[in-house]
Amino acid sequence: MAKTMPSSMGMIMGEGATFILVFLAGAYFLHRSIMRERKLQEQKKNFLLSVTHELKSPLASIKILMQTIQKRDLAKQQIMDFVGKALMDVERLDDMVENMLLASKIENRSYTFPKDKFNMSVLVDSIVNRLQLTKCEGNQLIIDAEIEPKVQVTGDKFALTSVVTNLIENAIKYSGPCETVGVKLFSKDNRVYLQVADHGIGIADQEKGRIFDKFYRVGSEDTRNTKGTGLGLYIVKEVLEKHQASIKVKDNRPVGSIFEVVFD
Ligand code: ADP
Repeated sequence: MAKTMPSSMGMIMGEGATFILVFLAGAYFLHRSIMRERKLQEQKKNFLLSVTHELKSPLASIKILMQTIQKRDLAKQQIMDFVGKALMDVERLDDMVENMLLASKIENRSYTFPKDKFNMSVLVDSIVNRLQLTKCEGNQLIIDAEIEPKVQVTGDKFALTSVVTNLIENAIKYSGPCETVGVKLFSKDNRVYLQVADHGIGIADQEKGRIFDKFYRVGSEDTRNTKGTGLGLYIVKEVLEKHQASIKVKDNRPVGSIFEVVFD
């Protein structure tokens, strides 16, 4: 029986082509992993800069407020206003430290979140009350909340406090001053829903999947003018995964975003 043998030239060319293909694929993957590593390093550097800034600015503000109270002869009402502002800065610092602690708990794979039944309505209501006046001068209420009473959730109350706080703080931060933010909590078909809706800058479709990545912030450091570390939504997603809850983000109308959390 006659066999067709490839010519030696054909074999050499075939092997050569295979070698070039393997080489190109290797070079491509190497380049991709170097770029990824470089990006992570850049994000870590930006994260450290943001954290330093985020820690320093409330501290500087508290220092000035306290020095003013100490040096000047102020009326009682003015003192109360200054103390109120200082307390808001302390809460900002507290939220940040809480986020860092939670992030390190998430990294520690052996950590398990406690599972206790608690009243989610009370929790959301207290966070709404605390964040109500953060950005708007003149006591205008910016959060429009519809909270069904006595909604129960089982999980880590402190971690879920950070989830709700991060979502509402983001909605306020990425909206214009005094822009209304909607917060809804309700139960339906044995599920608990939390919706946080804003009329802010919105999130492009191609960014919707990435915003939950650790340290990820939309845009470049130069174009971004909001404060932040890129840790908030990473924590939100990780904590919710530990609670068998899901989160999705969609566009609000006419502008802005809606984050929806569902507890099964
Ligand atoms: P950050 O500390 O930057 O706010 P997050 O992890 O909370 O970090 O959010 C990641 C990024 O997602 C933000 O930098 C911002 O670009 C985008 N983002 C989050 N929430 C909103 C929102 N409500 N509207 C528009 N963009 C948002």
